Amino acid sequence: MIVADRKRIPEIRDMIHDHGRVLLVGCGTCVTVCLAGGEREISILGAALRMALRLEGHADVVIDECTIERQCEDAFIDVLAPRVSDYDAICSFGCGAGVQALAERFPQTPVYPGLNTQFMGILEEQGVWVEECAGCGACRLGEFAGVCPITRCAKHLFNGPCGGSRDGECEVRPGLSCAWQLIYDRARALGVLDKFCEIAPPQDWSTGLDCGPRKVVREDQRIAGLGPNA
Ligand code: SF4
Ligand code: SF4
Repeated sequence: MIVADRKRIPEIRDMIHDHGRVLLVGCGTCVTVCLAGGEREISILGAALRMALRLEGHADVVIDECTIERQCEDAFIDVLAPRVSDYDAICSFGCGAGVQALAERFPQTPVYPGLNTQFMGILEEQGVWVEECAGCGACRLGEFAGVCPITRCAKHLFNGPCGGSRDGECEVRPGLSCAWQLIYDRARALGVLDKFCEIAPPQDWSTGLDCGPRKVVREDQRIAGLGPNA
């Protein structure tokens, strides 16, 4: 899932306080699962924001809330479209993709981010999410016993650990597991340690974000005349 964290209330307040009517828009997918921007969070945030605005002398700002199923897909934004002209601004609680999808769909309406989008990750335990994938565009988990050295090794090493691993922890932060310890332990348990006698080639970074924003086109799934830009 995409993991996001809420911006602080004063930060959101300062982004929106010059507008008369603001719609807070939650998203029912990843940010609901990571407890940052779903229906429940939006209703709590709405109340907190109204209070924060009143305390700063902006009691006249009207804050309303709604949540749509998915902000990153134009078909779901259709539900929101009839309401938007009633507001001077939107504060999106989707991930960065959702915020930009709303900005693209409503070019006349200022759209602000209510969240800080963090990473692609998993729920490690209740209330704890960890990053597991950096979206490199050329997945090599098959070479590394299912543990990603790009995301989880602080130095992105491909051919074994640095000298900083101590008791299974990375040297950059206490409590951070050393990815290469994880790779070694898992490879040993799977009986595939011999695979690591070969030098792993460098990553082809041309598929990564550093070569510009990426695009996936599935010709077999396209339907002429359908989609937001049809
Ligand atoms: S190798 Fe690339 S795609 Fe695979 S988990 Fe790591 S960052 Fe993600
Ligand atoms: S201690 Fe382990 S995870 Fe940390 S940088 Fe070194 S090899 Fe990578």
